[in-house]
Amino acid sequence: MPASWDALAGRARAAFADRFGGEPAVMGCAPGRVELLGNHTDYNGGLVIAAAIDRATIVLGRRAEGREGRFASAGFGEIDAFPLDAIERTEPGSWTRYTRGVCWALTDWAGPLVSGFDAIIAGDVPLGAGLSSSASLQAAVAWFLIQLGLVPNRPGTDFTRDIGDLHRMELAMTLRRSENEFVGVGSGLLDQFSSLFGRADHALFLDCETLVHDRLPLGNPAPAIVVCDSKTSRRLADGMYDQRRAECERIVDVYRDRIPHKGEFRLSWVRLDQLEADWDHLDPVGRLRARHVLSENERVRQGVEALKAGDVPAFGRLMSASHASSRDDFENSSPALDALVESAASSPGFLGGKLSGAGWAGCTVNLVRAEQADAFAESVRTDYARRTGLVPEVHVCRAADGAFGRDLGVDAG
Ligand code: ADP
Ligand code: MG
Repeated sequence: MPASWDALAGRARAAFADRFGGEPAVMGCAPGRVELLGNHTDYNGGLVIAAAIDRATIVLGRRAEGREGRFASAGFGEIDAFPLDAIERTEPGSWTRYTRGVCWALTDWAGPLVSGFDAIIAGDVPLGAGLSSSASLQAAVAWFLIQLGLVPNRPGTDFTRDIGDLHRMELAMTLRRSENEFVGVGSGLLDQFSSLFGRADHALFLDCETLVHDRLPLGNPAPAIVVCDSKTSRRLADGMYDQRRAECERIVDVYRDRIPHKGEFRLSWVRLDQLEADWDHLDPVGRLRARHVLSENERVRQGVEALKAGDVPAFGRLMSASHASSRDDFENSSPALDALVESAASSPGFLGGKLSGAGWAGCTVNLVRAEQADAFAESVRTDYARRTGLVPEVHVCRAADGAFGRDLGVDAG
C-alpha cells in the first residue's frame, strides 16, 4: 500500500466520477522500486538487489460496452480512447504509450482483451526521479485488467484468484517487452520484476542473466529506505550511459575469445581475480569500469548472505562500498551526489547509502534505522543545503508488497 493511501484512493475516485461518471468496480495497484545494490550490473549480465517501495500507482475502473479502451490520468488532461483490436502508438513521450503498450503486450501474450473499459490512473511515485513510476504504471494497468477479468487465462492459472511467481515472471517480461518495443525505451527487466515481486520489509534479488530471483528479509523492525533527490539535472548524464556501456565492452572484447561460453558473452563472466591478474595489459579506462561491475556483483553476493544471516548493518556497509566504487572506478557520481551521501553518512540512524540508478545526477538511496528516519531526513536536508546550496527532496519509504488487484464492491458492467 502506498504511504498516502487514503488521499490517493480518494483522488482517484473523484477523478473517475469527474471523467467517466459513477463508480469504479476494481483496482490495480503497483509500487515503484529502488535499486539497493548492483549498479550498472544489469546490462553486463550481473546481479542486483532492489526493493519495491510504498509509493504506488493505482488504476481504478470498470468494464464498458464495446471494444474500446479508455484511460485518463488524474495528473494529465485528456481521456485516451483507442480500439482494443488495432492498438496504435501515440506520440513519443506521451504517458498513453505506456497504457496502450500494456494492452498491446497483454493481447500478444494472452489473447484479445475480453471487453472495453474505463479507467482512471493516480499515483504518488515521483515521475522521472529514478523510482520507476513507469513500471509501477505498467504493472498497475496490468493488474487492473486482470482483476477486471479482461485478460484471458493462461493454461494452469486463474488470474483472478492467484498469480504464482512463474506467471509473475512472464508478466514482468511481457511488460518489459511493452516498454522496449511499444514505448521504445531500451530498459532491463529490473523495474517490472521489482514492481511485481515486491514484499513488505523484503529486498529483491535478481540475476539479470538467468532470472534466478529471491526475496530477502530486511529484518524486524526493517530499516527505512530513504531516497534523497539531489535536485541536480539529469541532462548531465546524456551520452554518459552509452559511453560507459562502450567502455565495459572494451573488456568484453578482450575476454570473449578467452573464456568458453554459450550465447552472448557478458562482462560478468569474467572473474575479478582474473581481471586483477591481467590488470597491466588491459585498457586503462575499461579495466576501472569492469572492476566496478565485477566487484559490484561480488557485493551483491555478499549482500544476499548478509540479509540471509539477518545482518542488516553489514548490508548497509556494502551499499556504502558500492558508492565508493561508483565514485572512484565507474565515475558515475558527481560532487552533488557525493555531498548527499556524505550528508547521509553523518546523519542519525544511517546504515549505508549510495547513488542509485544511472548516476551523474538524480537520487541516492540510504538504509536508515526506522525509528531515526525522521531525524535522518531533517539532518540530510540541512547538511546537504549547507554543503551545496540545494534543498534535496527526501522520501522516507518502506519496502512494500508487489502489484495486486482488488474488487471495490461495486458490480462491474
Ligand atoms: P521513472 O520510471 O524513473 O519515473 P520514466 O521517464 O521512465 O521515469 O517514466 C515516467 C513516465 O511514466 C511519465 O513521463 C509518464 O509518461 C508515465 N507515468 C508514470 N506515472 C504516471 C501517472 N500517474 N499518470 C500518467 N503517466 C504516468
Ligand atoms: Mg522508467
